[in-house]
Amino acid sequence: MKEILYKSTRSKSGTLKASEAILKGLAEDGGLFVPTEIPLLDISIKELAKMSYQQVAYEVMKLYFTDFTEEELKNCINKAYDEKFDTPQIAPLAEVDGAYYLELFHGKTIAFKDMALSILPHLLTTSAKKNHVKNEIVILTATSGDTGKAAMAGFADVEGTRIIVFYPEGGVSPIQEKQMVTQKGNNTYVVAIKGNFDQAQSGVKSIFGNKELAKEMDEKGFQFSSANSINIGRLVPQVAYYVYAYAKLYAEGKISEGQKINVVVPTGNFGNILAAYYAKNMGLPIAKLICASNENKVLFDFFRTGEYDKNREFILTTSPSMDILISSNLERLIYKIAGEDAEKNKELMESLATEGKYEITPEMREELSDFYGNYATEEETAEIIREIYEKTGYIMDTHTAVAASVYQKYRKETQDDAVTVIASTASPFKFTRSVMKSINPDYDKLSDFELVDELSKIGTVRVPDAIEEIRNAEIRHNNLCKVEEMEAIVKKFLEIE
Ligand SMILES: *Cc1c(COP(=O)(O)O)cnc(C)c1O
Repeated sequence: MKEILYKSTRSKSGTLKASEAILKGLAEDGGLFVPTEIPLLDISIKELAKMSYQQVAYEVMKLYFTDFTEEELKNCINKAYDEKFDTPQIAPLAEVDGAYYLELFHGKTIAFKDMALSILPHLLTTSAKKNHVKNEIVILTATSGDTGKAAMAGFADVEGTRIIVFYPEGGVSPIQEKQMVTQKGNNTYVVAIKGNFDQAQSGVKSIFGNKELAKEMDEKGFQFSSANSINIGRLVPQVAYYVYAYAKLYAEGKISEGQKINVVVPTGNFGNILAAYYAKNMGLPIAKLICASNENKVLFDFFRTGEYDKNREFILTTSPSMDILISSNLERLIYKIAGEDAEKNKELMESLATEGKYEITPEMREELSDFYGNYATEEETAEIIREIYEKTGYIMDTHTAVAASVYQKYRKETQDDAVTVIASTASPFKFTRSVMKSINPDYDKLSDFELVDELSKIGTVRVPDAIEEIRNAEIRHNNLCKVEEMEAIVKKFLEIE
């Protein structure tokens, strides 16, 4: 098998092995790690169609994590995709109203972040072992709601690790917040910040970039790593479910071998849709990559105009995990369409940091022809939840609804009726109030858990364990800080004052 190495999107020199890139998370120059090339699938769809989720995941990940032994990688996969998921299929497809919803929410925290975050701790601890790391690994994460909980669930009580999560106060759903502040595990820390998600993310990035702090940490036996979607150890496991979905469609006779499908992804940080783009580049027959945004529609404007401009009002929506103005993972795409020109990419990213915007060249725009961007307003998001429920009985969450609405617009605009997979990124139980209010505004009178029970009744779906668990759980975390205090609070937790 061909060895794949990783390099930064912001410098020409230096490559790392997969395990080293996973450990580091972010490159020292502020860039993201990308594979020196995207490997091609070396197995037929016919063969993949016979495989379990775990087996497909191995076929995909082995091509990227080439310094892991077969045993190491299979170990990680088997520890990640087990009974924590409430279905042996791990990522089942639901056929609803002419599209296939790829349900990525059957893990421990009922959102798609589980797909990658249940394996990342194992990839990370395996990488630490392979590289003779003695320090304790401190995971630092900014979350718009789902990553934080999924990361904590993944890392809780994993030996040799600690995890610190920052989330925007008032910027996550009540259920999301309750899930986080009730998190168990002696190595978990949760802090609300007085700011929005982008400020939390910038704060984390600046702590990562602080060389003095890194030195201080090292002296005390700690080192940082990231569980954010910029870690290559999160991106690669996400490629697997697109391959799995395609193989399943083939196995069920819904498509013929080689038939192209479209993929619709409700997008925030651009990690999930980038994984679909990688899958396409590996040879998976995907035609259009449909990027769905909520009212924070920076990406829609970018695909339309070639200018990325985050200088705008930050809107709090009912799909909070997509309330993002700086889509970090887009940098990997920019690098690729710039012809893997690190200098060019760096220039654009510096412009983003200083001016809050950048513009790509016409040549780069041509490389984006496989992408289609659009967005759904709050009203449209609520409308499609009600519409699909009334038509089919299927209840989707607000993020998935953004995708469903954008898909409807795409169909209207293009008449393209290719088989389509819509990434369904969260269980409706995670955003119960918004979902139920969409179906009937009167539901707003009910309490959070009355809504949960009502949703279960009208949707005829069992209340997920993740929700049952927090019904009566005690609050274990009660921390609030200003953006400028993030570093100090990290030091306080680690007792390195
Ligand atoms: C994180 C998240 C998204 C956005 O995914 P990105 O990879 O950040 O684009 C969409 N929906 C849900 C429910 C999420 O948790």
